[in-house]
Amino acid sequence: MGTAEKIVYMDNNATTAVAPEVIEAMLPYLTDYYGNPSSMHSFGGQVGSAVSKARQSVAALLGCDPEEVIFTSCGTESDSTAILSALRANPERRHIVTTRVEHPAVKNLCENISTFTGHKYRLTMLKVSEEGMVDMEEYLSALSDDTAIVSMMWANNETGVIFPIAELAKIARDRGILFHTDAVQAVGKIPIDLSGLNVDFLSLSGHKLHAPKGVGVLYVKRGTAFSPFMAGGHQEHGRRAGTENVASIVALGRACQLAQEKMAEENSRVKKLRDKLEEGLLASVPKSLLNGHKQMRLPNTANISFEYVEGEAILLHMNRFNICASSGSACTSGSLEPSHVLRAMGVPFTAAHGSIRFSLSIYNTEEEIDFVLDKMPAIIANLREMSPFWPGD
Ligand code: PLP
Repeated sequence: MGTAEKIVYMDNNATTAVAPEVIEAMLPYLTDYYGNPSSMHSFGGQVGSAVSKARQSVAALLGCDPEEVIFTSCGTESDSTAILSALRANPERRHIVTTRVEHPAVKNLCENISTFTGHKYRLTMLKVSEEGMVDMEEYLSALSDDTAIVSMMWANNETGVIFPIAELAKIARDRGILFHTDAVQAVGKIPIDLSGLNVDFLSLSGHKLHAPKGVGVLYVKRGTAFSPFMAGGHQEHGRRAGTENVASIVALGRACQLAQEKMAEENSRVKKLRDKLEEGLLASVPKSLLNGHKQMRLPNTANISFEYVEGEAILLHMNRFNICASSGSACTSGSLEPSHVLRAMGVPFTAAHGSIRFSLSIYNTEEEIDFVLDKMPAIIANLREMSPFWPGD
C-alpha cells in the first residue's frame, strides 16, 4: 500500500489505508477543481455538484435521504454535535443515558457535559455483560420522562461487539426520547439501513472506511430538531458552517460507493481471515482468550487477551516484524491502565493488561494471517518467560 517496507497492517479500527479508487476520485478536487461550492459561477457550481453526488453516495450506503446527511470534520465532531443538539432541543430534560463502553468521543463529552452546556445533568452509564452486551433490563429501567438523549455505539471499537441498535432505538422512540448512535466502526463493515429505524442521529468517520482523515458525517433524521455546533456561513443548509472539505467529501462518497459494492463479498472474506487468525491464536497460545461476544461482532475484529503479559510489550515485539495492531491498555500518567471497555466487561486484570486488538480490512491477505500465526506464539512465550507472574503452562 505504498509504504517502503512491507507492513502487516491489522489496526484498521484505528485507521484505514485510503483506497486507490478513492485517491483517484479526490485528486481532481485538489488540483483542477478548486472552486468554492458556494460560489455563483459554474466553476464553483461543478464542485458543488461533486459534493451533492458524494452526499447521495453516503445516503445510499446508509439507506437515508441525501438531505439527512451533514458533512463534518470527523466522527468526534458528529458525536458532539448530535448530543449537544439533542440537549438544546430538550432544555427541560436533564438526564443522559449512554453505556460504559463508549468511545471517548461520547464518554468524555457525557462525563464533562456541564463544561459544555453550563447545566448539570444526571448521567446513566449502562453496564455491559461479560460479552460486552448492553443489559436490556437496566436500559428499560434507566429511561425516564427526564431523559433527553440516549447515545449508544453501533459497534465497539475495541471488541467489535455490535449492539442491537434497531431494538434499542425503538425503545427510546416509544418513550419520546431522542436516540443517537456512534456508528463510526459499523459503517462499511456491516449493512445499515436507516430507512426503517428509529435512529435520530448517527455518526460516521471517513478514515475508518478507506477515505482520508478529517471528514465525517452526521445523519439527522428528517423532522428531528437540530441546532448547529458552530455559528458561521450557510453551508450544509445552515447546519454545519465552514467551507466544505471538498476533496475529502468526494473521497468519502467514493469510499461509501465502494463499501456498498463490495461489502457482502469482501466482508465475508475478511471474516474468514479473522476467524482463521482468531482460532489459530487461541489454539496455539496457552492461556489466551477472546474478549467480546462471539457472534454479535464486527467481521474484522478480534480482541484477544494473552494472560500474564503486557499488551504494550507484545506490541513492541510485534513491531519488530512490522505487524501493526493495538493494545487494550493505554499509558496514562505513567501507569498502564487497562481499557475502560474491558474493565466494564469484567475482564480479569491479568487478562485485560495483555489484550491485543487485531482489526483487519479488505487489504489483508491469507499470507499475512499465516505470518502472524507463525510469529505470535514465540513472542508470547518469550515475554512470559521474563514475567514474574507467569505460573507456567
Ligand atoms: N467513535 C468510535 C467508535 C471510534 O472508533 C472513533 C475513532 O476511533 C471515533 C468515534 C472518533 O472518530 P474520529 O477519529 O473521526 O474523530
